Amino acid sequence: MSEVDHNWDDGVTRQQGAEKSVIAEEAYEGCVRQDWTHEEIKSLYELSFNELILRAQLVHRQHFNPDQIQMSRLLSIKTGGCPEDCAYCPQSAHYKTDVSADKLLAADTILDEAQRAKESGASRFCMGAAWRSPKDRDIDELVEVIESVKRLGMETCMTLGMLSPEQAERLAKAGLDYYNHNIDTSPEFYREVITTRSLQERLTTLECVRAAGMKVCCGGIVGMGESRADRVGMILILANLPEHPESVPINMLVQVAGTPLYGTKKLDVLEFVRTIAVTRIAMPRSVVRLSAGREQMSDEAQALCFFAGASSIFIGDKLLTTNNPALTDDTDLLNRLGIEPLPPPPLSANGSDHPPGAR
Ligand code: SF4
Repeated sequence: MSEVDHNWDDGVTRQQGAEKSVIAEEAYEGCVRQDWTHEEIKSLYELSFNELILRAQLVHRQHFNPDQIQMSRLLSIKTGGCPEDCAYCPQSAHYKTDVSADKLLAADTILDEAQRAKESGASRFCMGAAWRSPKDRDIDELVEVIESVKRLGMETCMTLGMLSPEQAERLAKAGLDYYNHNIDTSPEFYREVITTRSLQERLTTLECVRAAGMKVCCGGIVGMGESRADRVGMILILANLPEHPESVPINMLVQVAGTPLYGTKKLDVLEFVRTIAVTRIAMPRSVVRLSAGREQMSDEAQALCFFAGASSIFIGDKLLTTNNPALTDDTDLLNRLGIEPLPPPPLSANGSDHPPGAR
């Protein structure tokens, strides 16, 4: 342990004894564990802001270079007309929004976008389709897309809805590195947001993804009107999965006119930073992604999120169908913070034990 760690630890023991008594020792040491309790996660949230953010940064440094960031680009490859009723989503066919329903993009179009993403500095290309589940003929097309994007030297991620074990196997065999499937929120709040797909169905898809050997990208959304107890409940599920997701996106709700959650009271950005910090501590080796909602955040709020342990962002001016900061703004911010983009891992890294950037 370094001199700095000693000083910090001693300080905690003397001055923060009360908090330490309810938070397991491992939370102070950056240990990976899957036996978190609701009380422990809640206690992290209840630390003073300074104490929580410092602790998250110290855990972060045990596993990651704090001055590197993983950059992904997310493209909507099949937009709108989704039969699900996620109350935050402009792509749901249940709501009247400005998003129209399109077919699956042609493979060449997707590949051109991947090339552009690579040129703009992205190491991972994420592809999202607004489906409840893909059809087998969709998988036929996407297998070719995965192979082509991999040949560009990029990591690949897809989010296509619920998968059968066979579909997961096919995607993994094609070389898909990550599969994204968010739990969105706590079990208690879930039915307030989605009624057409159960949380258990989501967990079953995550099991299929793991069984097929792909890495898991799984997180949630805050600012949907949930309570802090719901944010605790969401992190608790993620942190107690049999294996932590390698990538944990934390999204701030982007309110879109026409969706049921439009007009929801906005979440205090400091509570969002706390959520990043608690996620970082609860899943020390996972890459925490500061995902949707950056366009509405100040540079200072984003800098706090990075200090709290976020080490991944989406770049490009669109995130599926909502706006994201311009690349020039991101480059300017990262330069001012002295944070550098992380290069993609070697192609053979599919299935490696460590997420990119992990020490
Ligand atoms: S979040 Fe995904 S599953 Fe839910 S409505 Fe939107 S596209 Fe469909």
